[in-house]
Amino acid sequence: MFGPSLFIQPHYDDVPLSCGGTLALLAESGHEPRMVTVFAGELVGEFAAWKHQRWKVTDAEQVLAVRRKEDAEAARTLGSSVRWLGLPDAIYRGERYRSDPELFGALKAEELELAAHLAEEVRELPEWRDDMQVFVPLGVGSHVDHQLVFEAGRHLASAGVRVHAYEDCPYAIHTPAGVEARLAILGEAVGDPVVVPIAQTLQKRLDSIACYQSQVPVIFRFTSDFRTTVTKFALETGGDAGPAERFWPVHPHGG
Ligand SMILES: [Zn+2]
Repeated sequence: MFGPSLFIQPHYDDVPLSCGGTLALLAESGHEPRMVTVFAGELVGEFAAWKHQRWKVTDAEQVLAVRRKEDAEAARTLGSSVRWLGLPDAIYRGERYRSDPELFGALKAEELELAAHLAEEVRELPEWRDDMQVFVPLGVGSHVDHQLVFEAGRHLASAGVRVHAYEDCPYAIHTPAGVEARLAILGEAVGDPVVVPIAQTLQKRLDSIACYQSQVPVIFRFTSDFRTTVTKFALETGGDAGPAERFWPVHPHGG
């Protein structure tokens, strides 16, 4: 699990939330892990033009600036840099996803092309190294943006890259059955899980999550104390190993 690593998150916050402890461990071990945020948030793309007509432009820009500042602070807390690719979120990709059932339903066929494109783009990044391993979301909760990044991970695996899928939090925390449901759908696409003890860096993971000040009340609306909730989940994941994060090796297509 240790070596040069690229952590891909669909949205601002997915990596610190889900596997910040492992990222921090890699940083502390001198492996200089890097983070990439794929989607830009709700304030760019076609939707922005519409919003700019209705709202003050400066407000929209301020919100985006806050989201990025929080993301950068979280990355720094974990010992990483972060790059924003700025792809449009699902709800702004044409007319593909217009309702919650669609947003959390099956990935549309035309999106598979976007996943292949994303996999190519990742290998063109200045951060890219041929000996890098890549982390992508497992897709627990089935958000189409998360599924899309998982599919990009499969493309990378098919190209010979070592790819691990992290369990999407907070979905995996508040709906543990979602992990099993996603694994049932993925079948042979993933292998046996690897557990990484994070006692050394759990505090950094919690501190990095706290950086998303504008989002924490929304993300953790099911609990009043996210630090206790995340710690409990890490302890349950690790069992005898202490607090831990769990990863699923991503297999190549047809492999
Ligand atoms: Zn997300």
